[in-house]
Amino acid sequence: MAGWIIPPPKAPAASRAEHDEARRRKVSALEAQGLLKSPRIKAALLKVRREDFIPEEYRDYAYEEVPLPLPGASATISCPHSYPLFYEPLGLDRGHRFLEIGTGSGYGAAVAREVVGDEGRVVSVEIDPLTQAFARRNLEHAGYRDVVLVLGDGWLGHAPAAPYDRIAVTAACDEMPPALIAQLAPGGRAIAPLLHRGRQMLTLVTKQADGTTRSLAICEVLYVALRRKEPGP
Ligand code: SAH
Repeated sequence: MAGWIIPPPKAPAASRAEHDEARRRKVSALEAQGLLKSPRIKAALLKVRREDFIPEEYRDYAYEEVPLPLPGASATISCPHSYPLFYEPLGLDRGHRFLEIGTGSGYGAAVAREVVGDEGRVVSVEIDPLTQAFARRNLEHAGYRDVVLVLGDGWLGHAPAAPYDRIAVTAACDEMPPALIAQLAPGGRAIAPLLHRGRQMLTLVTKQADGTTRSLAICEVLYVALRRKEPGP
């Protein structure tokens, strides 16, 4: 699969109304493609202003199917279809305790917060302090004040708020991080791009009541790699 081609930075020109229209068109297209089915995920995608989670110089591309660069070493906001692509197989729903690995722009956390509602909870782990500061500003500005932002290595999850009903890893890794399986509630689901023979397969892992897991490959994807701390001596 070829890499993504990032469009050139430019001064933002689109109006609020133009972004609103582009958002509605994008949501209709995702439905028409069969990627978006859940009414709650649809409502969330219609509500959250994706353009508010994108650096100014890329804002006019908010609803194009490209990932866009963010402040930080290797962060991008994933392309628009990624969100239903991850959240539909997860069956993300009202009341879920949701863990995201890779906060990036904060957009995925905002959409998840809309889906899980007041009864749920969103925790998001980011390894890059610059990226996390950007996400924090975006989320506060957009009014999402109860998303729990954690600075750390997502490979380890975030044990203090476990167990989680649903987990999304938005960076590619060799295997589902064992700590995430441990932090998943019985019956819970986790999704991640997993490297398999040089390709990334978006993979859904379900934890059974007895603690064993089942994996289901969904499709090939292309994400930034999950950064790992160098193993000690
Ligand atoms: N979910 C984001 C997109 C994330 S892109 C959004 O909606 O905008 C992947 C992110 O994972 C990047 O921000 C990158 O810095 C972060 N990342 C990479 N390795 C990580 C790790 N080990 N732990 C936590 N975050 C990590």
